Amino acid sequence: MQYIPNILFIIILVAGIGYFTKNIRKVIRNIRLGKDVNRSDNKAERFKNMAMIALGQSKMVRRPVAGILHIVVYIGFIVINIEVLEIIIDGIFGTHRIFAFLGGLYDVLIGSFEILAFLVFVGVVLFWIRRNVIKLKRFWNPEMKGWPKNDGNLILYFEMVLMTLFLVMNAADLQLQELGADHYVKAGSYPVSQFIAPLFNGMSEGTLIFLERGAWWLHIIGILIFLNYLYFSKHLHIMLAFPNTYYGDLKPKGELDNLEAVTNEVKLMMDPSADPFAAPAGDEPEGEPEKFGASDVTDLNWAQLLNSYTCTECGRCTSECPANQTGKKLSPRKIMMDTRDRLKEVGDNIDKNGSFVDDGKQLLNDYITPEELWACTSCNACVEACPVSISPLSIIIDMRRYLVMEESAAPSDLNNMMSNIENNGAPWPFNQMDRLNWSNE
Ligand code: SF4
Ligand code: SF4
Repeated sequence: MQYIPNILFIIILVAGIGYFTKNIRKVIRNIRLGKDVNRSDNKAERFKNMAMIALGQSKMVRRPVAGILHIVVYIGFIVINIEVLEIIIDGIFGTHRIFAFLGGLYDVLIGSFEILAFLVFVGVVLFWIRRNVIKLKRFWNPEMKGWPKNDGNLILYFEMVLMTLFLVMNAADLQLQELGADHYVKAGSYPVSQFIAPLFNGMSEGTLIFLERGAWWLHIIGILIFLNYLYFSKHLHIMLAFPNTYYGDLKPKGELDNLEAVTNEVKLMMDPSADPFAAPAGDEPEGEPEKFGASDVTDLNWAQLLNSYTCTECGRCTSECPANQTGKKLSPRKIMMDTRDRLKEVGDNIDKNGSFVDDGKQLLNDYITPEELWACTSCNACVEACPVSISPLSIIIDMRRYLVMEESAAPSDLNNMMSNIENNGAPWPFNQMDRLNWSNE
């Protein structure tokens, strides 16, 4: 009987970690549905980017208030979770505050966890106020209605509850230590919960134990629920920001990839001995022509799909986007959210059917319209603004390539310009012979 809590704890822990692992494997499988792209070069620069951007949050502080608050919440949340290690060991072996033998160091650790927990709580409350009271414009764009809005708030509530449970647990523990209760070793310093502890004055030992154990169990169960919630949330970025910044595009902004499919076609045209019916280069099935550009998520490369899962929905890209600012339908954040939603839909389809079964849908039109794609000025402001090295522009360009090269569906202005270049050698509708007419004026 005395081992029932330990067994229960192990079952909950294994189930929590097991379900999380299962879902992370799905994320990896989905990202791998993308086309191959080589991002294994310049490892030193990639590590530097990851250290500066993901760990050091260098791009977050470009907006100092949000940046500093985010750093406090981020560091606090990560550091406090070191406490989880002690909780896990205690939970498995039935011990209590196993690291208390560290003496003075333990006091320092618990004391700093408490201060950080308090700062996280304050930071999260301020974040909530920015979203819901000040109503910062970028959190109220049309794509933030419904689940994305609730998701943003739910994460904040989660963090508030977890920090509160941590402090309540310590406050009750402090009271039990004062009472000299069995099993409750005198250890730790409690700079924050010592102000909560007086609320429990006069409670019996049994009630305090119930309170302390209740907060302890809810804290660890809450952490496991939060861990599993990540898969369903934009909060997955706390993990994916690291690989995403590592595998970011190192080319200068504005430099576009040549499409391999087009290069192959041109080479074929220029080689008189080439067999036009031979299988194309790459991994397309024999005889099937390569597709130009992207109309669905599987036409994008894995780095673009990783981008979509990493998007924090912060809206910094959209708030810098000139097309969005001038009232066009385009929002680079929505491009990333749509790509992720479609990718999840394709993944669910594979889970259900064993392999992908055509569902009559695609990223183009069903999620992202040509109107959005053609509103982009390709200015790169969104790429510059993104705190986790995401490029909505690269997806826009690939989808435009599809529209132009597969569907011949460029806007008429662009088609006119192309015809003019073809006929007149310039984008304007004037004969080449007339190009010096201006000098006669
Ligand atoms: S590149 Fe396009 S999507 Fe990005 S900020 Fe510029 S106009 Fe907006
Ligand atoms: S693409 Fe980057 S800047 Fe835009 S919402 Fe996502 S994380 Fe924020």
